[in-house]
Amino acid sequence: MIQVRDLVFDYLGHRALHGVSVDIPKGTVIALVGPNGAGKSTLMRCMAGLDTPLSGSITVGGVDVQEHPREVHTKLGYLSDFFGLYQELTVQQCLSYAAAAQGIADKHIAKRVQDVARFLNLTDKLQSLASNLSRGQRQRVAIGQAIVHMPQVLLLDEPASGLDPEARADLSALFRTLQAKGMTLVVSSHILSELDEYCTHILSIRDGRVSRFASLAATATGA
Ligand code: ADP
Ligand code: ADP
Repeated sequence: MIQVRDLVFDYLGHRALHGVSVDIPKGTVIALVGPNGAGKSTLMRCMAGLDTPLSGSITVGGVDVQEHPREVHTKLGYLSDFFGLYQELTVQQCLSYAAAAQGIADKHIAKRVQDVARFLNLTDKLQSLASNLSRGQRQRVAIGQAIVHMPQVLLLDEPASGLDPEARADLSALFRTLQAKGMTLVVSSHILSELDEYCTHILSIRDGRVSRFASLAATATGA
């Protein structure tokens, strides 16, 4: 579903990715782990087409991210670690604007927003201002914005940071549901224990290189 080939990325002379290659199969949930500064955010931003690598390539569903960014955006949702909601908007407005930005036709937006809100258990919050929500509720709205166009791939950068255990458990359940719908997820964290309950694979990045890519089932049997 996501194919990364020899990806090299530089920030003004500082090499952040030194030739990353990985094949992420459809329907998997990938735990992207590694210490702070390893290159996790950079890799995700390249996958989302938000950063341009020095060399190498990424395809999503067979489509090259550099060559066809618009086509890739329709297949992909991305949630930054610095996500922010417009605090003065209602949940309904946040989701509607995201839907419009993703090119969903006006006449379909209201229904789509309702469906996403129901799916994320936010129906009774649709008229609330973003500023009046809890951290966990805001996180769900931000995920709603990232999945409102029903992408095949969802990239989430440190989604569990700052959440209490209950909100984290909700998030785990949500990821399992998205996977059951056939979505492919890449979820980053610098804390492995946040991810091992719902991830199918682990992708470890260290100093801009893949240090390990393994199925978690294989890990459990000691392989
Ligand atoms: P992670 O997400 O694993 O914490 P990043 O992808 O954010 O890692 O960073 C990888 C490396 O690139 C680090 O050495 C970091 O300091 C550097 N880096 C990240 N963003 C920038 C930037 N905007 N300018 C320069 N260096 C950066
Ligand atoms: P382009 O004009 O390069 O084809 P688009 O018009 O599709 O790009 O998108 C413009 C910008 O909106 C992108 O550079 C990106 O920052 C952002 N964007 C659009 N869709 C998505 C998405 N699904 N995930 C992440 N970012 C997106």
